[in-house]
Amino acid sequence: MLDKRKFYINGEWVEPAAQNDLYVLNPATEKPIAVISLGTAVDIDRAVAAAKKAFQSYSRTGLEERLALLEKLLAIYKRRYDEMADTITAELGAPKTMSREQQADVGVGHLQGYIDALKRLKLREKLPNGDTLMREPIGVCGLITPWNWPINQIALKVVPALATGCTCVLKPSEFTPLNALLYAEMIDEAGFPAGVFNLVNGDGLHAGAALSKHKDIDMMSFTGSTRAGIAVSKDAADTVKRVTLELGGKSPNIVFADADLEARVTAGVLECFNNSGQSCDAPTRMLVERSAYNDVVAIARRIGREAEVGDPAKEGSHIGPLVSHIQYERVQALIEAGVGEGARLVVGGPGKPEGFETGYFVKPTIFADVDNSMRIAREEVFGPVLSIIPFDTEEEAIAIANDTSYGLAAYVQTGDPERAERVAARLRAGMVHINGGPHRYGSPFGGYKQSGNGREGGTFGLEDFLEVKTVHLPDAA
Ligand code: NAD
Repeated sequence: MLDKRKFYINGEWVEPAAQNDLYVLNPATEKPIAVISLGTAVDIDRAVAAAKKAFQSYSRTGLEERLALLEKLLAIYKRRYDEMADTITAELGAPKTMSREQQADVGVGHLQGYIDALKRLKLREKLPNGDTLMREPIGVCGLITPWNWPINQIALKVVPALATGCTCVLKPSEFTPLNALLYAEMIDEAGFPAGVFNLVNGDGLHAGAALSKHKDIDMMSFTGSTRAGIAVSKDAADTVKRVTLELGGKSPNIVFADADLEARVTAGVLECFNNSGQSCDAPTRMLVERSAYNDVVAIARRIGREAEVGDPAKEGSHIGPLVSHIQYERVQALIEAGVGEGARLVVGGPGKPEGFETGYFVKPTIFADVDNSMRIAREEVFGPVLSIIPFDTEEEAIAIANDTSYGLAAYVQTGDPERAERVAARLRAGMVHINGGPHRYGSPFGGYKQSGNGREGGTFGLEDFLEVKTVHLPDAA
């Protein structure tokens, strides 16, 4: 078992202020694979002090210097890529192939996306009225990340902080801390000055809250549940810091009868199940035009039955376990709520798949005849659970799609490009995917409504970490 109890503060691996061990479990075996420390406010204080001191000089480094450091980090990440993929498989339970092709890959994509955006960033510009506008690093940033796409969210926060000349303290999820510790090793090797990047492990209520409340933190960037995002906002309010939030989702996938049903319904089911359904932007509500409804349910049933659950340590396109016992219980409760509220079970259901008694495995599950008022249509399940809902008109589809407290992503499937544009414009969501259009690195990622504030990735992601200063010069004589 790995001993990973140290924190990375001021360019060194240091002992925590108090001993408070937590075991990191492999979700497929339920066995401990590492021990970490849960940090306290004392550890957070120490890390923030280091970041505050480092900000004095790092904030004045030039763009070229920071670009060179980021390029170095990219080369190191590529060299240690397989270690990153294996770590994510071990602590999250993402199957080996998925970890390599998706989970670890985003670490490269986002870093490259930010490097490209940084090269285009205008730090100083003349406004049409003659004033000068300057963009400057906001200061010391507190970064809190979840477990579901661990290095994705770490890269989306750490990289823009380092790119813009900010300094930071990262508190990753206590369920998946090992990929974050590996990233800290990479940042150390890249040669960022001491104190620019710091890492303290811990839970939300102690280390997380201490960070949000800290008077010397200028900005909090948070990704996680809407519940915790609200707590971070409240904790940050007394010190009036900037808060950016990437929260949950309950994304609609509108399937019109004129879509390529076989291809688009297959893709919709597989996207919902990807990462064991643990994606904030997963298309979990499939809204289907009534005239195609029976055909769509039949395709979904076939694809759902074919979806295999399997050992994450093996290569393949199978689905791994959920991350933890807590998530397992939560997903089971929602599957049972779906049955209880009268949705029609098409595939899967409560309980563990046969042969997977150990590990947090669940059955890929599809419900049809779901009403948008049911819990499975309103709450983020965060498991491989799809709800199929019929609609009669375009207007009704838009109304059901928008009838949610979330607004992260939306998906539209249609053979009519004009309808695609028309519907996309009416959806209250931060990202609309049409007929499988993917999210590309460098584009803003984020949501409307209770899915959050702010955007990550590319130029928009950099701007969240920048303050704006207007310099007023006297009129020329
Ligand atoms: P979570 O909110 O329980 O935890 C996320 C992080 O916040 C963890 O590091 C946790 O320790 C910390 N935390 C918890 N309570 C806190 C508090 N009161 N103060 C400060 N920090 C606190 O979420 P999770 O279960 O780790 O992740 C799943 C959630 O994340 C889902 O709701 C998912 O939709 C969301 N998510 C959103 C995006 C996005 O970009 N919109 C991306 C990925 C995940």
